[in-house]
Formats: sequence, structure tokens, C-alpha cells
Amino acid sequence: MEGIESQKLHHGSLYWPTTLPPSQIPSYPSLEGQITAEVAIIGGGITGALCAAVMARSGIKTVLVEGNRVASGSTAANTGLLQFSNDIMLNELAEKIGEAEAVRFYGECRKALVSLAQLDEDIPFETGFHVRSSLYCASTSSDVPKLFKEYSMLRKHGFPVEWGSPHNVGHHLPIRKPAALVTHGDAEINPVKFAHGLIAEAAQKGALIYEHTKVQEVKRVGEKFVITTDFGEIIANRVVRAVGYVPGVSNSTQLKPILKRSYALVTPANSLPDAWPYDCMMWETARPYFYFRTTPDGRLIAGGMDENQADPVTDTDYLVKRTQLLLAELRKLFPGNHWEAEHAWCGTFGESEDDLPFLGETPEQPGIFHALSCGGNGTVYGMIAAEMLRNRILGLDHPMDALLAPKRQIQNRETVLRSV
Ligand SMILES: Cc1cc2nc3c(=O)[nH]c(=O)nc-3n(C[C@H](O)[C@H](O)[C@H](O)COP(=O)(O)OP(=O)(O)OC[C@H]3O[C@@H](n4cnc5c(N)ncnc54)[C@H](O)[C@@H]3O)c2cc1C
Repeated sequence: MEGIESQKLHHGSLYWPTTLPPSQIPSYPSLEGQITAEVAIIGGGITGALCAAVMARSGIKTVLVEGNRVASGSTAANTGLLQFSNDIMLNELAEKIGEAEAVRFYGECRKALVSLAQLDEDIPFETGFHVRSSLYCASTSSDVPKLFKEYSMLRKHGFPVEWGSPHNVGHHLPIRKPAALVTHGDAEINPVKFAHGLIAEAAQKGALIYEHTKVQEVKRVGEKFVITTDFGEIIANRVVRAVGYVPGVSNSTQLKPILKRSYALVTPANSLPDAWPYDCMMWETARPYFYFRTTPDGRLIAGGMDENQADPVTDTDYLVKRTQLLLAELRKLFPGNHWEAEHAWCGTFGESEDDLPFLGETPEQPGIFHALSCGGNGTVYGMIAAEMLRNRILGLDHPMDALLAPKRQIQNRETVLRSV
């Protein structure tokens, strides 16, 4: 089994784990012996957690195995912004795949936000889920036309969006940008609490959860899969690979996202500028983009400065330099405010050539469902993955089956699935 050490996915001082005292973190046994299930989910990050919660709610016998601790991988580095808008703008996606299909995809992302809110309602503790608006700023004057084009297309298709300068988009925002649009109906979460909540709820509904249980091999034997772990074995009808960005299980086709690293920081409690509305997140048109959100205790979580490197930086001096650059962005936006970082980290994330996630089965491996989120909207894609999986098991189609299939062809592009 190739490395699945969570420390390889992030480095630095993470914030979310500090919000859950160790005594309150649910723990699960490791798997010993043989068990059977309808669905075996590999990976206990937010994606696996969403799949487990949806399976358990549908009464489907499920087992989830996590090689480390639940929510210790990329999910622990996730800054928790949930948006129906994606790294690829609606109008850009429309140019690639046609307007109708692009609008369907954006519509599914919007529906996913509603489903995430519904799941949150059943979690018996606070997960930091709050509905938010997003201020999408033009980074430069030359980006204003493309942002206006985006606004026009979102509005034409009934997405909740407003246009204007930051001063007339519904909030009196204390920052200066050439133009901005605001989308409504987005949200923020504490991804570690949310993943723990989903898994605890799935367990309560009958799902079996195992930590410190690495999958070594997945083999098809007749109609079933035999999933071999360190000290046990699962016999299942279906396998879900929610393994995130680390190399996965040997002997199976794997998806190879383009790996990058990104940086994030969290300011001390009660450090928000008075004039900033706590219910508004911010991002921009530049790629890579700078973004921030708030927390209920008055912190600001900011991120960006992505680099084309797969491994998170481990050099502390370099991490400090990148953190200073994030702080400098905040100073530019809020010149009167004193900014400092209480937590700062670097994490690996994946992108795809067409900016879409890989969700579903491949023709070569029926029964193995890939749930690989790509880009900055991984949680929303995890929700779509869980609903696609449920439909597949119930024998129903899902509107995103073809568009997000792991093996797909997008206009003039090679198939984006690559075997490793
Ligand atoms: C700095 C940063 C900020 C981000 N911000 C956001 C954001 O604001 N919003 C958003 O939606 N997304 C964001 N993302 C992306 C987001 O982190 C991911 O899309 C999402 O959390 C991935 O979740 P996951 O469950 O797919 O992967 P992971 O959380 O990595 O979970 C996969 C799990 O699989 C386990 N695993 C792997 N192989 C095996 C095996 N063989 N056996 C058993 N277990 C195995 C791993 O141990 C791991 O715990 C951000 C990413 C970074 C780095």
C-alpha cells in the first residue's frame, strides 16, 4: 500500500482539529476478521462521510474504512467554503460543453447545497454550517467584462445573483475592487466537525465504521469484491473509492488528478474589521485566487497562493513567507486593520484538466465507484457523488452521470482518466 499518511496531505498548524477537544472526537475500532456489506467505502474524509451518511439514510448496509483517523486527510486542511459557483465560471463551462449542460451542472451544485443543509439538520451537534453569500470580485479592471458576462448568464438562468460595486450589492463592504457580483445561498462549515457528525449519524443508523484500517487490495471474486485490510476482510457488492489525493489501492485503475498545494491562515478570535459583514465570503477572478470567510467567533480564514507542487511545503521558513503574502493581501483589502495569523498551513489538493470532479464507475471496473473531488469545491462535489452513488444502487439515473464520469471526453480533449 502506497503512503496514506495524512501528514503528507498537509503541513503546519491546522485550525479545525483545535475546535474539537480530543475527548469529544468519536473514535472507532480497527477492523479484524471478515464482515459483509452492500457497499464498502474506502476513505473517511468529507467525501466518504457524505457517501456513508446518504447510504445509511437509504437503508443500504454500509461499511466505511479509514486508514488513519476520520477527517484527518485533506478534509482537515479544507477551509470550509461551500459555493454553487465553481473554479470554472458558468459562461466558460458553457463554451466547453454547451450552455444547457453547464447550467445543469451549476444547478446540481446548487441542489447539493440544499442537500448539505438537510444533512446538517440531522447532526446532533453544531457543525458550523451557516448559509452565506459570496462576494465574487473582479481582481483587475480588465476582468470586469468577464465577470459581468458571468453575472448575466447566472441571472438569465435564475441563479440568485446581484451585480454592482461592493457598495451597492446588498452590503456596505469596506473593500475596494473594480466590480463584484454577489451570489446567495452559499454556506460555510467546519469540515472536521461536519465529517465527524455525518459519520456518527451514519453509525447511529447502522453503518459500520473502522479507523486505522488501511485497504491493501480490492479484488473482484465472481459477483463480489473482496477488500483486504491490514487485519481483516470485507466482502461487498460495491466499492467506493473516496481516497482523496493520495495514491490508492493497488491493482485497480486509479484517477490521477493534477496535484497542487495551497495555503491558508486563521486570524485570532474577534479580529474581524467592524465593517465586514460576517455572513459574506469573498473570492476573486484571478487564478489562483485569494479568498476568505469568517467564523462565528470573529476570525477570518483566508487562503490562496497556490503552487504547482504536489507535496505540502515542510520548510517552516517558506510556510511563514507564504503566510506573510496572505496577510499582505488582507492588508491591501483592509489597510486600517492589524492582521496576524494564529494558525497557518499548507495542503495538497487536486485539479482536473476540465475543472470537473471524477464521479462514477468506469466501464472496465463496474462496481467500483470513484468519488474524487477536484478544485476548490470538493465538499459540494462530495455531496453530488453521494447522490449519484445512491441513485446507481437504486437503479436510477443521475443527471450528472455522463458529464462527471471518470472516463469522459470534453470537446477536443483527450479522455481525462489516466491510469497509474
Ligand atoms: C488549503 C485547502 C483549502 C481547501 N478549501 C476548500 C474549501 O473551502 N471548500 C471545499 O469544498 N474544498 C476545499 N478544499 C478541497 C478539499 O479539502 C477536498 O476536496 C476535500 O476535503 C477532500 O475530501 P476527501 O474526503 O475526498 O479526501 P480526504 O479528506 O483526504 O479523505 C480521504 C481519506 O482516505 C483515506 N485513505 C486513502 N487511502 C486509503 C486506503 N487505502 N485505506 C483506507 N483509507 C484510505 C485517507 O487516509 C483520507 O483520510 C481545500 C483543500 C485545501 C488543501
